Amino acid sequence: MTAPVTTRSSADLIRAEEPVVAHNYHPLPVVVARAEGTWVEDVEGRRYLDMLAGYSALNFGHRHPALIEVAHRQLDRLTLTSRAFHNDRLAEFAERLAALTGLDMVLPMNTGAEAVESGIKVARKWAYEVKGVPADRATIVVAAENFHGRTTTIVSFSTDESARQGFGPFTPGFRIVPYNDLAALEAAVDETTAAVLLEPIQGEAGVVIPDEGYLAGVRELTRRKGCLFIADEIQSGLGRTGRTLAVEHEGVVPDVLLLGKALGGGIVPVSAVVARRDVLGVLRPGEHGSTFGGNPLSAAVGTAVVDLLETGEFQRRAAELGVVLRGGLSALLGKGVVGFRARGLWAGVDIDPAVGTGREISQRLLREGILVKDTHGSTIRLAPPLTITSEELEGALGALERVLT
Ligand SMILES: *Cc1c(COP(=O)(O)O)cnc(C)c1O
Repeated sequence: MTAPVTTRSSADLIRAEEPVVAHNYHPLPVVVARAEGTWVEDVEGRRYLDMLAGYSALNFGHRHPALIEVAHRQLDRLTLTSRAFHNDRLAEFAERLAALTGLDMVLPMNTGAEAVESGIKVARKWAYEVKGVPADRATIVVAAENFHGRTTTIVSFSTDESARQGFGPFTPGFRIVPYNDLAALEAAVDETTAAVLLEPIQGEAGVVIPDEGYLAGVRELTRRKGCLFIADEIQSGLGRTGRTLAVEHEGVVPDVLLLGKALGGGIVPVSAVVARRDVLGVLRPGEHGSTFGGNPLSAAVGTAVVDLLETGEFQRRAAELGVVLRGGLSALLGKGVVGFRARGLWAGVDIDPAVGTGREISQRLLREGILVKDTHGSTIRLAPPLTITSEELEGALGALERVLT
């Protein structure tokens, strides 16, 4: 690749972060300086296969040429208007995203957490204006072990103590039920319920896939009880599982869909609430907004992401290579792997604690030139760019086998 942009070493840059960057993350000791496709390169020129893909923000790989070209062209023309004015990219982005997802209307935001917050606000407003829930009584039912982001309201209904400890007081109005349990959900939903908010597959929890029929059951239950089904597909959506959306595996269309991560093509933060017109239509001027939401650069990149997904190529690759991934992981069962859950190019792999913690395995893989991230103690998550080749995937599985034995 090209000449280095810094003369400082990785070790020096890691040391330099310590006093000036908040310690809200515990990164692996690699300092990435450039990337292309499925590969990243550190400051010293060492190459690594990216098996995390920015928690699915890089579904199309690093710097996908079609996305980079659109971004460059847009940078040279118009980047930001604010929604005080119209811009010439937003209508197409919204039309195309709505068509891709089978819904009507788009509320453009930036980060995933903002999309979740916006979905909660829309659901509450819908509950008061359409469903007739008495003022300030709306409830939203969520699942235990969820991950929906990091704002004060969102951590209010997290069950992860490290995400909550020290951040109270919390926002009321949420009921937490076990995931994958329709009876518990049924018992929690009542006439005050605005929405059920769920991840169709729980990513941060370790790629937890509900039983067949659960999502269809949630759809049936929410329809019967007259509340909204909000699917948080910020991580599971946009090709990762072998379909455009993870809910498609059960033929489900939610009332409200939350998208983020890959929607920004790995270039800019782009998120969206996508919903039917009778739901998103409750918002009126001045009631909600974002300075950067729907900006022309984001809209251009988001439209280019929709272009890529419309080809079906990435969904197909995720489905086909998912077979390779599952096969490779099955072969490791009993050889350092005690269990795994996988769908498409996405897997949560439970490592035998006798072999090492998830962090230790991630460190050993780093030395093998593979980037992964642990989640919850002894689980590692595999989520490569959907552009990965089967040879690269086999290489990563081979490296995993080596570090486990
Ligand atoms: C990452 C994630 C979020 C939060 O997205 P941010 O862009 O980090 O705010 C919300 N929900 C799910 C399912 C996620 O994976």
